[in-house]
Amino acid sequence: MNAFTQINPPSTGCGNAPVLKQRGQREVFCGLTSIVWLHRKIQDAFFLVVGSRTCAHLLQSAAGVMIFAEPRFGTAILEEKDLAGLADANEELDREVERLLARRPDIRQLFLVGSCPSEVIKLDLSRAAERLTQAHAPQVRVLNFTGSGIETTFTQGEDECLASMVPVLPETEAEQLLLVGALPDVVEDQLVGLIEALGVPVVKALPSRSADVEVGIGPNTKFIVAQPFLGATAGALTGRGAQHLAAPFPFGEEGTTAWLRTIAEAFNVSPEKFDEVTAAPRARAQKAVAAASERLSGKSVFFFPDSQLEIPLARFLTRECGMTALEIGAPYIHRDLVSADLDLIAEGPVLSEGQDVDLQLDRCRAAKPDLTVCGLGLANPLEAEGLATKWAIELVFTPIHGYEQAGDLAALFAKPLKRREGLTL
Ligand code: SF4
Repeated sequence: MNAFTQINPPSTGCGNAPVLKQRGQREVFCGLTSIVWLHRKIQDAFFLVVGSRTCAHLLQSAAGVMIFAEPRFGTAILEEKDLAGLADANEELDREVERLLARRPDIRQLFLVGSCPSEVIKLDLSRAAERLTQAHAPQVRVLNFTGSGIETTFTQGEDECLASMVPVLPETEAEQLLLVGALPDVVEDQLVGLIEALGVPVVKALPSRSADVEVGIGPNTKFIVAQPFLGATAGALTGRGAQHLAAPFPFGEEGTTAWLRTIAEAFNVSPEKFDEVTAAPRARAQKAVAAASERLSGKSVFFFPDSQLEIPLARFLTRECGMTALEIGAPYIHRDLVSADLDLIAEGPVLSEGQDVDLQLDRCRAAKPDLTVCGLGLANPLEAEGLATKWAIELVFTPIHGYEQAGDLAALFAKPLKRREGLTL
């Protein structure tokens, strides 16, 4: 039997590179932001933030106001008397949930989402979720997770949400693959289509689009993660006996091929079958990346820590688009998840975890990168200083995984360079 063609790692990768760890002021959105894409993905869920008016404003401005549809997120606002402990917030929460579920029989999963204020007053949302599940089962399952900004970055909201679902997944002995991460439906369908074409028997997704899709877990479940920020979810799945397939993330042609190959090897797919299924989309992706990355080749990039996508994206930009990474900052480095990507990035860039934003801004100005990937709050000031910037949050809201999106991904990074060239003509 032929062996799979493996990708060539650099002679020395970043897997053992020293990590600069700094703690100070950070510039990131809180985990509530993840509700914006989670509520679109889980179509029978409602996300009830237990928080302040600030939380409500953040959600409204990030998600926009839905005029024609009933929204599937909202905020139960903690008033001053709740914060001062003068009212029983649990009683009020029960009443709000009662009202909501009576009005919205389409809701099958209700997530109580903690915030900074609910955590400060130590409102126990896990007990509230248990109590409300007892009251509303089997029609509605109530879970809870935190989206608080006290120690999270915004993608951690999804991690907390998916991790909260793992303990209630039913047990199964079925041999299956679980695809973990809230991908846009069109991207999920593309990836699942490729995996099924390889002959993998059962492919399930977490989160599923609705509570009616039964997703079980057990010793014959292998899971692969599609987003590098799902460390807690991966830990919870492993704790339930599932086996993690560690792979580079499916960004670009090379990343997608390596990710699919890991699945193929785990399910004993032959190299011939793998080539037959992937050859055409690989060729399309290579062509699209080559065309879109002309403007990127030979340029340098500096990542501020924001979306937690930084490490796999740096791998894509350096290996497939000809860029040089000067600093790769990540809010957290989940070694179990990103080691395969780190090994593929040639040594050289500063690898940093956490943030002291002023010190990092000094490093960025000194490095003078051609492109800076950062949060919204830093982008405008850096643009004013003459640096081309890419908003990191756009990378979470845009479909970027898989072969068919590889060219678009390179183009997303090329766009700010094109804009700046236009400005300096
Ligand atoms: S959870 Fe915290 S950081 Fe997020 S909007 Fe509410 S108060 Fe602000």
